Amino acid sequence: LVPSFKITILGNGAASPTLERPPSSQIIELSGRYFLVDCGESIQLQLRKYKFSIQKIDHILITHLHGDHYLGLLGLLQSMHLLGRKSEINLYCQPELKEIIDLQNRISQTFLNFSIRYVFLEPEDKYLIFEDEKLRIYSFPLKHRIACNGFLLEEKPLPFTINKKKLDQYNIDVSQIHKLKKGMDVENEDGQRVSYQEVTTAPRATKSYAICSDTIYDEGLKTFINGVDVLYHESTFLNDMKERAKKTFHSTASQAAHIALLIHAKHLILGHFSARYGHLQAFADEAAGIFNNVSVAKEGEVYQI
Ligand SMILES: [Zn+2]
Repeated sequence: LVPSFKITILGNGAASPTLERPPSSQIIELSGRYFLVDCGESIQLQLRKYKFSIQKIDHILITHLHGDHYLGLLGLLQSMHLLGRKSEINLYCQPELKEIIDLQNRISQTFLNFSIRYVFLEPEDKYLIFEDEKLRIYSFPLKHRIACNGFLLEEKPLPFTINKKKLDQYNIDVSQIHKLKKGMDVENEDGQRVSYQEVTTAPRATKSYAICSDTIYDEGLKTFINGVDVLYHESTFLNDMKERAKKTFHSTASQAAHIALLIHAKHLILGHFSARYGHLQAFADEAAGIFNNVSVAKEGEVYQI
């Protein structure tokens, strides 16, 4: 079974939502685990619309505390509680979010039935914030008007697939299988050395994905995410509003494309579009002049990493 690593866009809008563009949110699925990144105000309806069970989400990552990236979170936690959630939720965020949640729960006299495990994000450098047998997640700083973090998800090496027929031919004991799956040679029952390449097939290459939610054009990103396979980069504006982008610590479509080129990404996904633009085609066109594999994130769209 090839593990799936895919993202679903739940919202692609900037500050003010429009009917076609709910505010920022996306869900990442890796082998049955769900990571929600940002939580715009329409998050609950979006999760229902695209048929994600809210109780399956165990990890929520918030890039920063501008409203369009987190205002849906309080409602989502409330619904998890009302629907009987018992299992802990992991929340990766700036420390001030805990103050906001505590205040809301105190004033509304809400006592959640589940605990929140907070992982506070470091403002200065790249840090490992999650690791299990399949995946590592790092946070890294973005340059925005307030503290803001991006996230880098990296798959760990996948196991080699055992060819059972060959395994029998070489008279290898099943206790050696775990070594072969890791790509290590073994000794068979007759004391003969068997190369893992003889009895396994190689897995597909591991994949990586980076999210740069809200950021000014910043070539320093190369230090954190060089060589990433898929880059999601905000593109709030087109180049005609380059000055406004700079002033508000946002990026344009061509700036996002320049970053994709600089870090040798294979695929660029643009998102976080200002409501002032009616159509998104211009974003794709602008970026495509610089970088050759560009997608424009639309609500409900799924991307295989
Ligand atoms: Zn922002």
